[in-house]
Amino acid sequence: MYQIKTDCHVHTILSGHAYSTIEECAVYAAEQQLECIAVTDHFCPIRAEEFGDKAVPFINLKVLPSHIRGVRILRGMEADILDLQGHLANYNVMHEGKSVLEEALKDMELVIASVHRGPGKMETDREDSAANTQMYMKVLGNSKVNVLGHVGRSGYRFEMLPVIREAGRLGKALEINEASFRFGEPITAVCRKAAQLCAQEGTSIMVNSDAHSAHAVGRYPETLQMLEEIHFPETLIANRDLETLEKFLEK
Ligand SMILES: [Zn+2]
Ligand SMILES: [Zn+2]
Repeated sequence: MYQIKTDCHVHTILSGHAYSTIEECAVYAAEQQLECIAVTDHFCPIRAEEFGDKAVPFINLKVLPSHIRGVRILRGMEADILDLQGHLANYNVMHEGKSVLEEALKDMELVIASVHRGPGKMETDREDSAANTQMYMKVLGNSKVNVLGHVGRSGYRFEMLPVIREAGRLGKALEINEASFRFGEPITAVCRKAAQLCAQEGTSIMVNSDAHSAHAVGRYPETLQMLEEIHFPETLIANRDLETLEKFLEK
C-alpha cells in the first residue's frame, strides 16, 4: 500500500466554494500524519477593480508561517488555463503597471495549472485534440507551472503521450486527482490511462485530494486502489513524502 505523506491540492474558504480555513486543514493534516499540504485556491480571471479582494490574498501568502501544527504549508495556487495559447489567469490584467499574475507568482512555491470551464475561462472546442495538446505543451513550457491539474476531468480531448513525455522531459508532474473519481466513467478511465502512460514513460505524478473541506485532506482511496491495480511505481509519485516533494520542486 502506498503511503502518501503530502497533499498538494487543498482549497480553503478563500476559494469561495470550499468550507475550511488553512488552520482547519492543517489540524486535519496533522491528525492524518501528513508532513505537508499545499494551499492551492482557485486563481480565477478577475477584473482590475477586483484586485483587492481577489488577487491580494494570493500576493500576501508569505505572511503565513512555513509550518502550522508541525505540517509544512506550501504557498500555492490552482491557476486557470485561459486559452489555447496556454495563458494563465490574469496574465493580462494590470495593477499599477504590473501583471496581476506575475505579482501573484512571486512567492508561490507550487503552481497547479488546470482547465475549468466558465465565464472568462476556456470556451474553445473540447474535441480539438491537436489544439488542446498544443495548449498543454505551452502550459508545461511555463517555468512557474509544476503540475498539470486533473487532465482527466477537464473534458478536453488531447493526445496524452506527447504531453506526458514533455512533462517528463521538463521534470513536471501530471496530477491524479481523487475528486475526479466522483464523476465515474469515462473520466476514471482517462485517469487510469494517464497513470499507465506516466509509468511507461517515467513521468512523475502527484496524488492529490482536491479537498474542498478539511475532511477530504490526505484521502485518496480511489486513486490508490487504481494505482495498486496497475502496479504504479511508487518512485514516480512526486509527493509521496516531503523530502521527495522538495527535491521535485527544486528542479
Ligand atoms: Zn480544478
Ligand atoms: Zn482544485
